Amino acid sequence: MLITPLASGSAGNALLVEASGTRLLIDAGLPLDELERRLEAVDVRPGSVDAIFVTHRHADHVRGVTRFAERHRCKIRTTRRTARSIGTEVHRRLVRVEFGQSFEVGGLRLRAFPLPHDAPDTAGVLVESGGVRYGHATDLGGFSQPVVDALAGCRGLFLEFNHDIDMLLGGEDPPHLKRRIAGPHGHLSNADAARLLGSVAHPDLELVWLGHLSRRNNRPELAEEAARGALGASAQTRILTAIQDEPLSTACLRPIPGALEHSRP
Ligand SMILES: [Zn+2]
Ligand SMILES: [Zn+2]
Repeated sequence: MLITPLASGSAGNALLVEASGTRLLIDAGLPLDELERRLEAVDVRPGSVDAIFVTHRHADHVRGVTRFAERHRCKIRTTRRTARSIGTEVHRRLVRVEFGQSFEVGGLRLRAFPLPHDAPDTAGVLVESGGVRYGHATDLGGFSQPVVDALAGCRGLFLEFNHDIDMLLGGEDPPHLKRRIAGPHGHLSNADAARLLGSVAHPDLELVWLGHLSRRNNRPELAEEAARGALGASAQTRILTAIQDEPLSTACLRPIPGALEHSRP
C-alpha cells in the first residue's frame, strides 16, 4: 500500500492511498488546481483517482472536493451529515457511509469511526488491502477507548499532532480560539497525540506520519520528540512529519511478515 501525504495543516489537507489498483484521496482541502498540481508532482494523473473519502466539513478538508469530483468523475464517500454540507451540485457523486460499517472502494476496504471535533460526524478512517491496514485520524479534540480500539493493529498511522500546549497558551491567538483548539472538540496537542500513539503502538507498526501541525503553535521537532517518546527508544517505527506546502515522498506499507499466511482459514 502506497501512502502520499499531499498537504497537511489548517490551510488544506489531502492524502493519497494506492493499493490493489485503486486510488483514494482522503480529504481534498486544497483548491482544485493546486490539488491537481500536487498529484501531478507525484506522477499521478488526477483523472486516475477513483474516490475521495471526506473526514468532515471544515474547509481545510473539503475545499476542492466538489470541483475535483465533477471534473474527474470520482465518487465522494462520507458520513451523512458531512454529505449534507457538501451540497447538492455533486449529489449524484455522493455515497453516504455509516460509522462502523465496512465498505469497498475498488480493491480497498474502508471503515469510518467517529472523532470528537467541532464539525458534525467528523470521521477517522481505516483502509485495508492485501493484509495491510492504514489508520487515519486528524481533527480530534481528545480520544477515548473506541478510538484506540479502531486504530489497533495498523501497519501505518497518520495522526494529528496539532500543537504544543505551551506554545498555544503563550501564543498570539485570541482567547476564544485558544479555548476552541485546546477544547475537547478541537485539536490534539503533542502530549495527547503521543498518549494516543503510545496506546496503539505495537512492534509491527512500520510508519507514523505526524500531521495537521499548527504553523503558529507547534514545531516539527517538538511533535517528533513527543512521538519518539511514546514509541520508546528501541522501536523500529519510522516517523515522518507531513507538511503544508508540498507533498511528502510516497511511502510503502508492506504486509506484516507471516500475517497473510496466518489469516488463511
Ligand atoms: Zn482540519
Ligand atoms: Zn476540522
